Amino acid sequence: TSPVPSSTLAHLAQSDFPKPDAPFLELRHISKTFGRGKKQLQVMDDISLTVQEGEFVSIIGPSGSGKSTLLQMIGGVLLPDDGAIMLQGKRINGQRGRAGYMPQQPALFPWRTIEQNVVLARETAGLPQRESLEMARVWLDKVGLGDFRQAYPHTLSGGMQQRVAFLRALLGPQSLLCLDEPFSALDAFTRSEMQSWLLRIWEENRRSVVFITHHIEEALLLSDTIYVLSNRPAHVLERVEVPFERPRREELVDTPSFIA
Ligand code: ADP
Ligand code: MG
Repeated sequence: TSPVPSSTLAHLAQSDFPKPDAPFLELRHISKTFGRGKKQLQVMDDISLTVQEGEFVSIIGPSGSGKSTLLQMIGGVLLPDDGAIMLQGKRINGQRGRAGYMPQQPALFPWRTIEQNVVLARETAGLPQRESLEMARVWLDKVGLGDFRQAYPHTLSGGMQQRVAFLRALLGPQSLLCLDEPFSALDAFTRSEMQSWLLRIWEENRRSVVFITHHIEEALLLSDTIYVLSNRPAHVLERVEVPFERPRREELVDTPSFIA
């Protein structure tokens, strides 16, 4: 018999040897409980999910069902109690910066200008500053914030700040984008503009997207695959078959090209 316990071997197999044929992103048996004792709240119990390379996945569900908690774990800002988050076959539990992550609250740095906030993910990744600032300029123009490059976050409305946080995630180098209700503070017109930019970026760069929304129509419009997270009666994540072709997705993508 082997001198090494099989549990250790299983652990090594999961974490240290990336498998080229592994799914792009895999959540394996994730559990999460907040608090202790009587105030304990189990938000997730044995949730699993697979996202393929280039797949656009939406997660919908009522408020309080744990959508943000799930995305925080993929974004590496929160640790699961149990289970593994695997990106391209590597365990990334608690590792920030693996995904382009946009939290539900824009969380801009108040001491940085808008353009400095937009380039943050690229800066952290060590990408050349000049190029990043140029991208920020082009993109801030596209989303209608060209006049606010040198402004500070507190001078912007909630919807404007949301677009800044959106660009910060979008312009980062990561091939996985995790967006937590990115368009919730936008009017219908601006929202549909942002949806088309997102689809364009997704199509042209073949990124994988995990998109959280509580708008079923938005999920139907944008995604390949929809999961519903529910907390009543049990904590379950269920895959839903998208029932029909969505012609409007192609219409949405039909915006002027931006990539030089
Ligand atoms: P959703 O994004 O679907 O609205 P959340 O993931 O924000 O749901 O929250 C799920 C549940 O976990 C809620 O009941 C919320 O109050 C609770 N929760 C979230 N974060 C924390 C935390 N840091 N500490 C304690 N409870 C939390
Ligand atoms: Mg949330």
